[in-house]
Amino acid sequence: VPLVLTQFLDRAVSLYGEKTGVICEDREITYKELSERVNQLSHGLQDLGVQKGDRVAYLAPNTLEMLEGFYGVFQLGAVMVPLNIRLKPDDYLFILNHSESKILFVDQEFYHLIVPIKDKLETVEKIIVHYKDEQTNETDYDEWLAQYLKTSFARPEMDENDVCSLLYTSGTTGNPKGVMLTHRNNYLHALVAMHHLRVSDKDVYLHILPMFHVNGWGAPFIYTANGATHICLRKAIPKVIFQYVQKYKVSVMNMAPTVLNSLLQYYEQNSPVIEHDVRVVIAGSAPPPAFVTRVEKELGWEFIQVYGMTESSPLSLVSTIRPHLSHLPMNEQYRMKAKAGHPMIGCEVKVVNNLDEEVPHDGQSIGEVIVRSNGVMKGYWKNPEATMETIRNGWLYTGDMGTVDEYGNIDIVDRKKDIIISGGENISSIEVEGVLYEHPAVLEAAVIAVPHEKWGETPHAFVVTRPGHQVTEQELIAFSREKLAHFKAITGVTFVQELPKTGSGKIQKVHLRNEYWKAVG
Ligand code: ATP
Ligand code: MG
Repeated sequence: VPLVLTQFLDRAVSLYGEKTGVICEDREITYKELSERVNQLSHGLQDLGVQKGDRVAYLAPNTLEMLEGFYGVFQLGAVMVPLNIRLKPDDYLFILNHSESKILFVDQEFYHLIVPIKDKLETVEKIIVHYKDEQTNETDYDEWLAQYLKTSFARPEMDENDVCSLLYTSGTTGNPKGVMLTHRNNYLHALVAMHHLRVSDKDVYLHILPMFHVNGWGAPFIYTANGATHICLRKAIPKVIFQYVQKYKVSVMNMAPTVLNSLLQYYEQNSPVIEHDVRVVIAGSAPPPAFVTRVEKELGWEFIQVYGMTESSPLSLVSTIRPHLSHLPMNEQYRMKAKAGHPMIGCEVKVVNNLDEEVPHDGQSIGEVIVRSNGVMKGYWKNPEATMETIRNGWLYTGDMGTVDEYGNIDIVDRKKDIIISGGENISSIEVEGVLYEHPAVLEAAVIAVPHEKWGETPHAFVVTRPGHQVTEQELIAFSREKLAHFKAITGVTFVQELPKTGSGKIQKVHLRNEYWKAVG
């Protein structure tokens, strides 16, 4: 049997058909109703001439319409191209033309971003708007969908190695690249994640991470086959998250560290009294160690760190405390959970030096993290050179640097491009940021390399202070010297109102570097 993603929804319908599948704002629908909408969508797309292999783009936050889009598009054998809601019109122009998308679904809130580029779209034949308002002169999704049958859809013959999505990378380090993921990639990734996250029909998953980003992208698969309930969330507003947690008895959440930070801050300021069923909070993208402790101690929620990237569907590492280490003091356990962790089932992860030899498992020697797994992409769309550079001898070279400790825990030290080299020593910007986050006046911190006459480079911090707190540059420098080896301490601070972030909530250090250079002239 080919491993195709539609099987996840099929299983939910046959076992949990009458159960609530999705809650989106004031709508609540069963799995059976979800599959009927999905059938309508596939019929509608077919009517528009969409065929197997064609690209269908989505520009939408986490809504029912976005979620059903996954299965409606896959059922046809077509390819989904999710667009990050925080890009600029020209970025959409690039991605829509580059992916040769045929249909564009867009949420009304983001439609204005498409208006300036409409005339320059080379392949898009139709734009259909979710939640369309009266001023917008396009096809209305609800009216369009209502024309089509709810009955089953005759699926084309599918191969598990068919591409099901072109996911453009976050663009944290440069231009986004179109990652081709197959049904098999996503299917096996979802099965493995379901196991590690112990997903069951008792789960209620709150979609905080955007589905258009690879970390949220997996959730429509991971939380469907076992009959969990999906709760859609348009914007990650802390107050709303706490309300939803209580109202819908949310059990699992996954979020960027920046969102987790705002949640912790809201909790500390407002101490909302909540009854909750949260069993685990998941975060990737380098959460500072201080967050792990705060989530577990203050919120009382179990914290799991994950590591992944778009190119591997995404996850390959998960932090869990191994049973024979559970006797360790809590602080020691938190310290371990602050590492990205262990390879997930079916993933091989190594940390290697320039000669492709594994570095010693001493928790100190740094090398590049390489991954071999069922999640590794087919390649970059229309970019075979970049594919060959990234996948070598079957291994994905992640561009991330890490260490391995004696227990096999992998710690992501930094991106290759972000490592600071000072007097010949490697400094992890993530480690320095982790220390700054321990300072009570620091709300957000990002550390970049700046040139230094004597040392070559030194760490420089961009800091957002916590409302009502004050701190000077000298105090933060002194604080970092107290907590870190002196060569790792920051040598300067730029205080800012906010840090530039990607649509998935990552801090864009490229922009900080530009800002620094502008300031020094
Ligand atoms: P681009 O490739 O376009 O520059 P990006 O790398 O940010 O963007 P993603 O695929 O969304 O795009 O992110 C993957 C990256 O996120 C990883 O390569 C790694 O640098 C970082 N990351 C993910 N999880 C962790 C983690 N647990 N700890 C540290 N870094 C992480
Ligand atoms: Mg990347």
